Amino acid sequence: MVSNTELPRVLLADAETNPAQGAVHWSPSKSLWLIFHYLVALVGGALTLGFDTLLVFLVTTAVTLCLGHSLGMHRKLIHGSYGCPKWLEYLFVHLGTLVGMAGPVGMIKTHDLRDWAQRQPSCHPYLRHGSGFWKDAWWQLHCDLRLTQPPRFELEPRVAHDPVFQFMEKTWMLQQLPLAALLFAVGGLPWVVWGISARVAVSVTGHWFIGYFAHNCGEMDNEVVGAAAQGHNVKWASYVTMGESWHNNHHAYPGSAILGLYENQPDPGWWVLNAMGNLGLAWGVVLPGDLPERKSLRPLSSRARTGFGNKGPHACPVLGVLRR
Ligand SMILES: [Zn+2]
Ligand SMILES: [Zn+2]
Repeated sequence: MVSNTELPRVLLADAETNPAQGAVHWSPSKSLWLIFHYLVALVGGALTLGFDTLLVFLVTTAVTLCLGHSLGMHRKLIHGSYGCPKWLEYLFVHLGTLVGMAGPVGMIKTHDLRDWAQRQPSCHPYLRHGSGFWKDAWWQLHCDLRLTQPPRFELEPRVAHDPVFQFMEKTWMLQQLPLAALLFAVGGLPWVVWGISARVAVSVTGHWFIGYFAHNCGEMDNEVVGAAAQGHNVKWASYVTMGESWHNNHHAYPGSAILGLYENQPDPGWWVLNAMGNLGLAWGVVLPGDLPERKSLRPLSSRARTGFGNKGPHACPVLGVLRR
């Protein structure tokens, strides 16, 4: 029995809506896009490896993953877990598009379909990373799932009628071009190879790789009772994912702007968001305590039963040092 859960954008088409039945098909555009970047990264990357190109790779990857994917696409656009000026949201979502997985609408749809399906009693293994490692790699990186009876999807007018988001959606692959031109102007072709292709290849592959573990193994503080998939906290990936790998916390409190909820859970995305709050660039930050109580949530650890200590907005230590 499927339920309409708490996701406002995902509506049941009819009583037959089914998250479990469907077929996985090869997606030529997804596959060729990724293979192109792999080839450029492998061949071009080997020929142009150097201190500067490695630095370009690290900086562009960190910025697009943190400000773009985590803060722009996920915590803001998809979950609306904080408010910020519109220009900043556009910038962050553009940076999120640069990660190379989809445009804003594609990212919302992919995320919400998975989120909805994983909350159901059962769902297709594609939607819960439920197959073996290599099969899941092939499916997620090169294929799409077509559900036989998919739910209906309704985008909020704020995004659906926004010409900037619509433009980003239509041109998401081409949006690498301005950054590519900038990198070319400063460092020539080697910087483009590392700042675009190596970055996209590693980011897209890494997103699947950590997503696989985040749905299959790792510690859990909470269980969503009756859900087809549980999130797991992938400790070793907390820094490289900018805090996104605290995925058990995210399944428990999807609307929370903080992902590293408990002690010793580094969450770089949250540190940046907190600094933005200190600068007056972010507001209305949603914390787990602000979310409606979920009856399906069952704490598994003592810290999950006792709360979150003093995690929440605080004076940013870095900005404090700078102001001195
Ligand atoms: Zn998940
Ligand atoms: Zn999410």
